[in-house]
Amino acid sequence: MVVSFTSRSSKISHKRSGDVAVTSLIGRDRDPHAFEPTPDQARLLSHAQLFIVNGLGFEGWLLRLTNSAQYHGPVIVATQGITPITTTGPGGGVSVPDPHPWQDARNGTVYAGNIAQALAAVDPAHADRYRHRLREYQAKLGELDRHVRAELGAIPAQQRRVITTHDAFSYYGRAYGVTFLAAEGISPNSEPSVQAVAQLIRQIRQERIKALFLENISDPRLIDGLAGETGTTPGPPLYSDALSRPDGPAPTYIRMLEYNTAVLKQGMLKN
Ligand SMILES: [Zn+2]
Repeated sequence: MVVSFTSRSSKISHKRSGDVAVTSLIGRDRDPHAFEPTPDQARLLSHAQLFIVNGLGFEGWLLRLTNSAQYHGPVIVATQGITPITTTGPGGGVSVPDPHPWQDARNGTVYAGNIAQALAAVDPAHADRYRHRLREYQAKLGELDRHVRAELGAIPAQQRRVITTHDAFSYYGRAYGVTFLAAEGISPNSEPSVQAVAQLIRQIRQERIKALFLENISDPRLIDGLAGETGTTPGPPLYSDALSRPDGPAPTYIRMLEYNTAVLKQGMLKN
C-alpha cells in the first residue's frame, strides 16, 4: 500500500469469510514515485482478480507491469470521480493533475466507495458485506474530517504556513486551510533549482516560518539544509505518500491523517 489504497494488487479469495487477500506492491515508508515493479511482483499480479491503483498519473509504470504480468483483469482507479488539483510545477509548462488527493479525508470516502464497489463486482456473493463495511468506514472518515478541522480550528490564519520536501499536501491545504510551500514539485525526484531553494529560504526568513517538515519517504538533506540556513528545527516526518510500519505512528490511513494533523498543528503554533 502506498497510502491507504494506492497501487495495491488485490487477490480475492472466494472463501466462506468473504475476506480479501490484499497484496501491496509498494511497501511502507517507500517512495511510490521512485517505485519499479520486480518480476516477482509481475508474477503475483498475474494471479490477481482485481488491481487497484491511485491513478492521476501516479503509477507511471502501470502499463509496463500489466503487460509483463499479462494481467487482463479489472484495473480500478481509486480516484475516479475526484476533480484533481492541477499544477504546472515551478518551471511552468504543461498542466498535470496532482496525484495526492488522499490527504483530504473527504476524498478518502471516494477512494473507499470505488474500492468497495469494485470488490462487490468481483465478489458478488459478499456484496452486502462490502457495502456494510463501506458505510461503517465512511462514517469513520466523516469523523476524521471533523477531527482535523477541530484540531486546526484554533490556529490563527497568518500562522497556517508549512514547508515540506515535496508538493504532496495541496489537497490537505485546500481542505483544511493551510498553505504548504514545497521545495520539490509533485514528484520528489525532481531536484529543485538553486533559485527555487534561495527563494524558499528568503520566504522562510521573511515570514518567520518555523514549521518545516521532512516526509517519511524523502531524503532528509534538503530540509536539513533549509533548516540550517534559516535557524529552524525540522519537525517529525510527515506521512505523505506511504504509511509507517505497524508499530509506527501512521500504520493506517486514519491514523496517518490524525498523526499528520497533530504534528502540523504543533509546528504551525511555533510560526
Ligand atoms: Zn508524492
